[in-house]
Amino acid sequence: MLPEIEGFFRTDKLPHMWCPGCGNGIVLHGLVKAIAELGLDKNKVTIVSGIGCSARAAAYLDFDTVHTTHGRALAFATGIKLARPELNVFVLMGDGDCSAIGGNHLIHAARRNIDLTALVFNNSIYGMTGGQASPMTPSGKRATTAPTGTLERSFDLCELARAAGATMVGRATAFHTRLLTGLLVKGHRNKGFSLVEVITQCPTAYGRRNKMGQPADMLRWQKEHAVDIKAARNMDSGQLQDKIIIGELHRSTAPELTTRYRQLIQELREGGGFLD
Ligand code: SF4
Repeated sequence: MLPEIEGFFRTDKLPHMWCPGCGNGIVLHGLVKAIAELGLDKNKVTIVSGIGCSARAAAYLDFDTVHTTHGRALAFATGIKLARPELNVFVLMGDGDCSAIGGNHLIHAARRNIDLTALVFNNSIYGMTGGQASPMTPSGKRATTAPTGTLERSFDLCELARAAGATMVGRATAFHTRLLTGLLVKGHRNKGFSLVEVITQCPTAYGRRNKMGQPADMLRWQKEHAVDIKAARNMDSGQLQDKIIIGELHRSTAPELTTRYRQLIQELREGGGFLD
């Protein structure tokens, strides 16, 4: 382990529980590299996770960490950030966690533009519970709940976050680790709600069932199907079929919730409002 990140891990909790070839470790590495690059005080970093294989990451990180309930990571993180706005809060969620049971929390965190950095591990499946289809399982792909392939359309979580008001949105893959770290650095520096989706591999619950080969083959698939946003702007919908658009997808500005919240408290105190 590189010395600059070793202090970020609870080494007594290792080895981790993830399957061989799982992408979660790669994504976690991208996150700690971003925290190192940002030079954040370890005691001012808070990690909030939901439930699922990726959520287990909170147990391995030596920050203040909260392993919360399914779909509610953003709700817990919202409370933490409103109470302690000086903290650097990263929220780790899986695709099912964030887009199904947690979908409303995502929409409203984005709408509020609260200063959180959400990292979504999208492995296209509910891995921990045995491989059920999530809202982000691509159409036609197999899952325990869709043995002949899911009939549903999958979500574009980045589009959803952008439409709901997120002020920074990006996507990487487990293959594109430097891009992932760069997006997390940008997401954290954005004063508002940032969402970074990372397409990652679950060789056990998704890969085997969908004949995606070995973990290395799944990483190769990510490499071959990813298109940078700059190139994608010059491609038509046919050329972009089955492609993953990566890079910084959206950036905007809007008032940030905790800043406005603090201002309101200040104004009420100065004006002799109901807080006094
Ligand atoms: Fe990773 Fe899938 Fe195994 Fe969960 S089930 S640890 S996501 S490979």
